[in-house]
Amino acid sequence: MYQDTIAAVSTAIGEGAIGIIRVSGPEAIEIVRKVFKPKYGKTIDQWQSHTLHLGTVIHPDQGQPIDEVLVAWMKGPKTFTTEDVAEFHCHGGSLPLRETLEAILRAGARLAEPGEFTRRAFLGGRLDLAQAEAIMEVIQSKTRDGLGAALSQLEGHLSKKIKEVSDRLLQVMAHLEALIDFPEEDLPELSDEKLRTDLEIIKNELIGLLQRAQTGKVLREGWKTVIIGRPNVGKSSLLNALLDEQRAIVTDIPGTTRDAIEEMIDLGGIPLRLIDTAGIRETADQVEKIGVEKTLHYMEKADLILFVLDGSEKVTAEEKELLSSLKNRPAIVLINKADLEERKIDQEEVKTITHQKPIISISAREAWGLEELSKVIRQFVYGDEKEKTASSLEYERLDLITQARHREAIERALQHIQQMIVDLELQTSPDFLTIDLRAAWEALGEITGHTVGEDVMDKIFSSFCIGK
Ligand code: GDP
Ligand code: ZN
Repeated sequence: MYQDTIAAVSTAIGEGAIGIIRVSGPEAIEIVRKVFKPKYGKTIDQWQSHTLHLGTVIHPDQGQPIDEVLVAWMKGPKTFTTEDVAEFHCHGGSLPLRETLEAILRAGARLAEPGEFTRRAFLGGRLDLAQAEAIMEVIQSKTRDGLGAALSQLEGHLSKKIKEVSDRLLQVMAHLEALIDFPEEDLPELSDEKLRTDLEIIKNELIGLLQRAQTGKVLREGWKTVIIGRPNVGKSSLLNALLDEQRAIVTDIPGTTRDAIEEMIDLGGIPLRLIDTAGIRETADQVEKIGVEKTLHYMEKADLILFVLDGSEKVTAEEKELLSSLKNRPAIVLINKADLEERKIDQEEVKTITHQKPIISISAREAWGLEELSKVIRQFVYGDEKEKTASSLEYERLDLITQARHREAIERALQHIQQMIVDLELQTSPDFLTIDLRAAWEALGEITGHTVGEDVMDKIFSSFCIGK
């Protein structure tokens, strides 16, 4: 339990209808006594927990009134931080808020550090580390699906999954320890075979989590989608059509290169980072042809390639070359200008060249085919939805890994398990196997915070804003 009491403005800075100052710690009650004069008689010592009270904030030294406020009083441990918490709901102007905060600090609180409320919630056992990190993600999420993944992490779905795997590891640990203490002949039920099966199960669960890490990363950072094609096929028109149709996500990501425009959109919940290659130069009205090499370079770095062809013209030799290089890449071929009479592209041929990549007819100008495109993109992100029921999809989204820190920890745990499987094959002694087992268990514990050091926690919580 902490000795000091912290306070901070917990709402956005600037003028708003209300602003909230949160106070947490053992002296919260004393601070309210000093700075708050209730309008209707009863003082804080008579209040029930989890009730609201109207009154005036007064300066603790000079006694002059500062603002009329509502105080929410919540006694620990059933609070966010598990400590006593008072929330002052002030008028939202920056001056009354600042003065109220000042009065609270004078009365004995200390200004909270970034993330300190959440850190107390963590240390009080109210949340684990993955859930604390999810709070940040909920605040920062940019799309519906991203928010869904963050909320589910906040509810503890990921933590529960990690705990399940950790518990399995502990069972294996007990098994190994028994083998160390007793010769195997005395424990027929503890065969190497059983050990191997258990490790395989753990291995597969970790691999499953890692596979869903890619989807999680995308929900967080956006799916990097490059629009490729020779000049005039309609790349920029497609970008504009998608921007019109979908909500553009405002970001401060600067254009990564001078020959590309980058925009973030929300495609039915999936954040797409759309990159229109050679965009900027074209607007300067210089017909700029980006070479095959440059195009390949963009394709290299993409999570998804939208390869645009002009349906009113024949496929060129250069295009054929690029199309054949789509073979092992995540790509969708778009045959644009479907509104024109002229159809000169043989879809079957394109299918063969690209090794069966999806092909969609669109008209960027008339905004046709964008719905189909959005459906196919969803399939790329979530796998083939047709083969899954809606509920199994929902389930899979529950334990998505959205943070690089978590993915790295799982990768490390997996390496140790794989090492154990190899060592088991080599008849390594149980003492030796426990070393990797312990390391795997500790790696998983970093996710929930059970085995994480102060330095990592400092890093995580300092990325929070003050008042969180
Ligand atoms: P980019 O060079 O690949 O970016 O192509 P633009 O988007 O600048 O388009 C080149 C030309 O094709 C422009 O005159 C567009 O109006 C036209 N265009 C683009 N999409 C379509 C379409 O779907 N149908 C028709 N008829 N014209 C289109
Ligand atoms: Zn263009």
